[in-house]
Amino acid sequence: MLNVPPQAFPAPSSQQRVAASGRAKVPLKPGRSLMDWIQLTKSGKDLTGLKGRLIEVTEDELAKHNKKEDCWICIRGFVYNVTPYMEYHPGGEDELMKAAGTDGTDLFDQVHRWVNYESMLKECLVGRMTVKPVAAPKEISSALSEEKKRLNGMLPEKKALGASAKDLTPSYDWFQTDSSITIVIYTKKKEMNAESVVVDCQDKRLRGEIIMDDHSYLIEVDLIHAVQEDMTVNIAEKVGKVEITLKKKDNIHWKILGHPLESHNTFIKRTDRGLFYRKCKLASKTEVTHDTKLLCLMLPKSTHLQVPTGQHIYLKQIIAGTEVVKPYTPVLPSLPLDFKEPFHRDGAYIYLMIKIYSSGLFTQALDHLQIGDYISVSNPEGNFKKSQVQTSEDLFLLAAGTGFTPMVKLLNFTLTEVSCLRTVKLIFFNKTEDDILWRNQLEQLALKDERFEVQFILSQPTKDWVGKQGKISSSLLSEFVKRSRKDSKVLICICGPTPFTEQGVQYLKDLGYCQEEIHAFTA
Ligand code: FAD
Ligand code: NAP
Repeated sequence: MLNVPPQAFPAPSSQQRVAASGRAKVPLKPGRSLMDWIQLTKSGKDLTGLKGRLIEVTEDELAKHNKKEDCWICIRGFVYNVTPYMEYHPGGEDELMKAAGTDGTDLFDQVHRWVNYESMLKECLVGRMTVKPVAAPKEISSALSEEKKRLNGMLPEKKALGASAKDLTPSYDWFQTDSSITIVIYTKKKEMNAESVVVDCQDKRLRGEIIMDDHSYLIEVDLIHAVQEDMTVNIAEKVGKVEITLKKKDNIHWKILGHPLESHNTFIKRTDRGLFYRKCKLASKTEVTHDTKLLCLMLPKSTHLQVPTGQHIYLKQIIAGTEVVKPYTPVLPSLPLDFKEPFHRDGAYIYLMIKIYSSGLFTQALDHLQIGDYISVSNPEGNFKKSQVQTSEDLFLLAAGTGFTPMVKLLNFTLTEVSCLRTVKLIFFNKTEDDILWRNQLEQLALKDERFEVQFILSQPTKDWVGKQGKISSSLLSEFVKRSRKDSKVLICICGPTPFTEQGVQYLKDLGYCQEEIHAFTA
């Protein structure tokens, strides 16, 4: 229902008026009243220009739509195409244009926080923002300008950061030999690991991000001289020291490391850091089922990136002139069927298991990629932490369709590295037998490792199916999710279509499992 106090959207008037709030109202043309707007939104006309599809919008993409005839505005993370609404806006076009191509939440809140814009602009909804706009804290900005001077040799290092900031913030240093440059980052945090470090060096631009819980430390420099393509990253895990070694292209002495970029030497909340993308080459594409493929993407030589268990990345493509971003959860090339050694952690490839939807905007474009084509891949994101499962005795994995993807690395990690693990049960929901991903491998794994069990449940089986059938329900879950011992430590992970996940979590809570015992994978 529309929730709009009448004074906010007056009937068309030929007189310009000022509302009680002080906000100017402008005369609206005949036929541009609120009722006219409502009728337009109900007319079935495509008001977003996206034919009803919702997309994920990057800050860069949002900024491009900043003209009256092409105007997108973000409010609380949702992006609206307000061009069709321009002439209907009681505050006038100019008011609306103040937020064109930007996050207009603050402006909106100042003027009409109480307006139910969600329903007003429902038909104008383009999609969600992929990242929140970054606002660097003041002290970081000032530290940064100091840092710029230091990097350019204008200040001695000891003056670069204030004492209190220095205690909390990681720091870095660099040194050189005739043939190499080494950048050393002191994270001041013990127990760093390779997954916490993402480094890219392309076209003389070095970017090294260290993830420390929910914070991110970044070094980002335009190097003063060229380097070779290969790069090594060494992590002294126990002392929290990260060493990035680059090979000089020419054996000359570097007077300075380079020129710092905007976010260089900042330590901010991870969620405030924009996503960084690098181009990866499609190395292979193999069939998993009739509609699902395993894509192997090759990272550039000068990238160090390992996607942590339970996290996802974003793929970015330009589709019909618009930047489109979608999340995907990397898997492994296969299930851990050989237990002699954990998987070789080369880190040179990312494997994605992707279902191609016949009417899918993004997956259709993905399916048209040829071997050797490039696609942009972001840094990892996600809120799953390995520590959640490290002390588990019983692990239950509830997956529907491609919701199986986060379970792949989880299976590998728990079966090879969690010593207290007693049982792992995968309850895998699919429509038909043909839809079951890696069925053969799952059955082999169950034969090889007595801790692992798999249960397939089909919602649309053929007559021949003798296994379980149905949809996620309280009774199915009470049948399959059981502690191996009365007080055993349990973790239940769930992933699939949003309603599946939401229903599953509710059923589990109703069955007496607490919040800490349940992890739902979402975007
Ligand atoms: P759209 O153009 O958005 O939709 C077209 C049609 O396809 C829809 O009408 C519908 O019929 C069907 N469809 C689209 N999306 C869905 C959906 N989510 N559920 C059911 N039907 C749908 N997908 C993978 O294949 N592998 C992954 O590893 C993976 N990881 C993900 C991780 C996260 C954190 C999230 C949130 C989603 C993940 N997805 C994954 C889903 C993926 O992000 C896209 O939603 C999916 O690829 C469809 O995109 P599309 O543009 O092709 O479809
Ligand atoms: P699908 O084949 O359409 O469905 C798989 C099974 O789930 C089917 O048995 C289906 O039953 C059931 N199901 C579908 N919708 C349901 C609902 N609303 N309530 C209960 N059961 C439902 O699944 P898919 O196309 O592979 O989609 C997988 C989903 O997982 C996508 O939405 C994707 O975004 C999500 N995903 C999320 C993440 C993440 O968040 N990290 C990672 C990977 C995938 P029916 O016969 O009734 O349809």
